[in-house]
Amino acid sequence: MADVAEAVRAEAAALHRYPDRDAVALRTDLADYLTVSTRVVLSEANVWAANGSNEILQQILQAFGGPGRSALGFEPSYSMHPIIASGTRTDWVPVPRRPDFTLDTERAAETVRERQPDIVFVTSPNNPTGGSIPLAQLRGVLAAAPGIVVVDEAYAEFSSQPSAVELIAEFPAQLIVSRTMSKAFAFAGGRLGYLAAAPAVVDALQLVRLPYHLSKIAQAAARAALRHADATLATVHQLAAERDRVVEALLGLGFTPVPSDANFVLFGQFADAKASWQSYLDNGVLIRDVGIEQHLRVTIGTPEENDAFLEASKEIPR
Ligand code: PMP
Repeated sequence: MADVAEAVRAEAAALHRYPDRDAVALRTDLADYLTVSTRVVLSEANVWAANGSNEILQQILQAFGGPGRSALGFEPSYSMHPIIASGTRTDWVPVPRRPDFTLDTERAAETVRERQPDIVFVTSPNNPTGGSIPLAQLRGVLAAAPGIVVVDEAYAEFSSQPSAVELIAEFPAQLIVSRTMSKAFAFAGGRLGYLAAAPAVVDALQLVRLPYHLSKIAQAAARAALRHADATLATVHQLAAERDRVVEALLGLGFTPVPSDANFVLFGQFADAKASWQSYLDNGVLIRDVGIEQHLRVTIGTPEENDAFLEASKEIPR
């Protein structure tokens, strides 16, 4: 926090000037971070940044979607994908996941071949269900897709699975990996999302970005936060261990948690999820009803918060 504050203070003297519209220093730092965390060597030419990954997704749809084009996603997944598609007049093609929320990637590849969408969204780890897609299966979807495949890796740091960044060299004209500092970096208020792709994809996004979209303050604050990536990732590992503890404990209590690589766990079964959500709240625990029948989603917190959640879980009507 001190470093972020100092970085912002230093920028304050220069706020009468526009920021670097290409955010080269920040993109270089993000490329270095990805190179270290995925062991795939990337440069700033592979990386683009915006105000949260929602803006990244919107720029992708502005550049590659639009009237007469379509985007396909596997549901349930991140609810903003169809909303941003609709805002850019891109037709949305929803394809259901299996009843256990995993993706039947062979069928997915078939559907992609049939529907020929201009853009395919794969969220890995998936929000709100938590599971991720192995790279071998992702390859099948990429091979079937006629256009862009966006792998939304907002929760990637919480997962032990390899990143889709490993496949960029193999599918340079297709693959875009979307990332954010909102989750693992605990930087949601700083608004910093980014993507990794081939340099030509990054060039294409220059056609739709607004001039100076990323403020000097956001760029400087994000660079300061990135200097602390090691400490941040140590916390992320603790959180992932807590997640696994919570899943085990839920199993012990007779719940059916969905295997998660993210910082939340979807779990059931509840006869009336809405009533059970209220019962958690009455016990002082606020979790989420994400609209999936018989299920609720808990975000992993501090060990004390997780204990309070598990204690309340013993009292909840199912
Ligand atoms: N993708 C996924 C899968 C998300 O869950 C979220 C936030 N909930 C986002 C993208 C967008 O986050 P942000 O704009 O803060 O980067």
